[in-house]
Amino acid sequence: MSDPETVFSPLALTGPLPFLPLVQGDVDYDTASRQQPGLLDRLLDQEGTGVILVRGEKVAVPRGKGALAGRTGASIRLATLPAAYLRGPLAGSTGQFEPPCYYLGTADRQAWLALDLDLACAGRAVQDPLRDLAQAADQRFDWLALREYAPHGRPRQVGLATCAVALSVWHGRQVFCPRCGAPVHPCQAGWAQICQGRASGDRHTLFPRIEPAVIMAVVDSRDRLLLQHNRQWAPDFRSVTAGFVEAGENLEHAVRRETLEEVGLNLGEMRYLGSQPWPFPSSLMVAFRARSLNTDIRVDGQETDDANWFTREEFGAALASDRLRIPQAASVARYMIAQWYGSEL
Ligand SMILES: [Zn+2]
Repeated sequence: MSDPETVFSPLALTGPLPFLPLVQGDVDYDTASRQQPGLLDRLLDQEGTGVILVRGEKVAVPRGKGALAGRTGASIRLATLPAAYLRGPLAGSTGQFEPPCYYLGTADRQAWLALDLDLACAGRAVQDPLRDLAQAADQRFDWLALREYAPHGRPRQVGLATCAVALSVWHGRQVFCPRCGAPVHPCQAGWAQICQGRASGDRHTLFPRIEPAVIMAVVDSRDRLLLQHNRQWAPDFRSVTAGFVEAGENLEHAVRRETLEEVGLNLGEMRYLGSQPWPFPSSLMVAFRARSLNTDIRVDGQETDDANWFTREEFGAALASDRLRIPQAASVARYMIAQWYGSEL
C-alpha cells in the first residue's frame, strides 16, 4: 500500500477547485514514442487502436446526441472509429509526411488517435478519398464545440478531446513558420511542426505556443465577491476578473495589474486555485483567489463598464430571479464562483 499522502493524480488541482471540466482523464501521453519513425502508420495498423474525429474546436459525437448539449445531467460520448476503417482513405497520404492524425496516448493499453479532418482536407482535390471520408463524417455525426461537449463527457474522453482540439486549432492557425515564413508540416505524431524552409537536416522544429491568462476571484474583507461586466457582453452577464499575462511578467504581477486596471482595486494576499487549458485558440487559464485591500471600485470604462460586490445572499437572489447570468459550465470562472458561493451552480 502506498502512502495516500504521496499519491498525486497528474491532474491534481488544489483543494478549493478539485474538479474542472477540461482537466480530466487518465491518458498516458506516452511522449517517448512520439518521435518513432512510422509511429502513426503502425498505430493505424494495430488492432484495438481507437480514433476520435476532430475539426478545429469541434469533436464528433454520435448522430442525434449533439442536441443533448446544455441539458442538465445529459451524458454524451465521443464518436469513435476503429483505426482499420481509416487505412483505405489514408493510404495515399502517408509517405513523405505524417498522416493527418495525432497520437493522443494510451489508456488501459489502448492507443488513441485523433483524425483531424481539417488537416486531412487542406489542399486536397475534390475527388480525394480523404475528402469523401470528411464529407461522410460531417453527415454521419453531430459536431460539438469542445466547451459544449466537455460538461457531458466521460473523463477519459474529455481528456482525449481536449488534447485533440488544442492540436487541431494550433495546426489550423499555424500553416507557415513564424520564424521564416516557410510552409510547415506536422511531425512528432502531431505534437510539433517541422519547418520546410531549409534543407532537410537543418530544419527547425516548432511547438505550440501556450498563452497564459490569469483569472481571479477577488473578495473583500467581508468576503463579498467582485463580479464585473465587459462592454461586449450581454447586459445581464457577469464574471470574475481576467486578463492575459504580458511579456516579461509573472502570474502574480498579472493578477495585480489586471485587477487594478479593470476595476481599480489593489490586491493583498492571493492564493492559487488551479488551472485548465482553454484552447480557443491557445490559452491556459490560471485561477487565483485574491483579497482586495480597498472596496472603492473604479472601472476602466474601456473594457469594463460595471462591477459590483456581491454577498452570497445578493448573488443567490440575483441568480434565482434571472437578473444575473454567469459563465458557461465548461469555464473555470463558473467553478471559481461556485467555490466562493459554497455550492454547485
Ligand atoms: Zn522556419
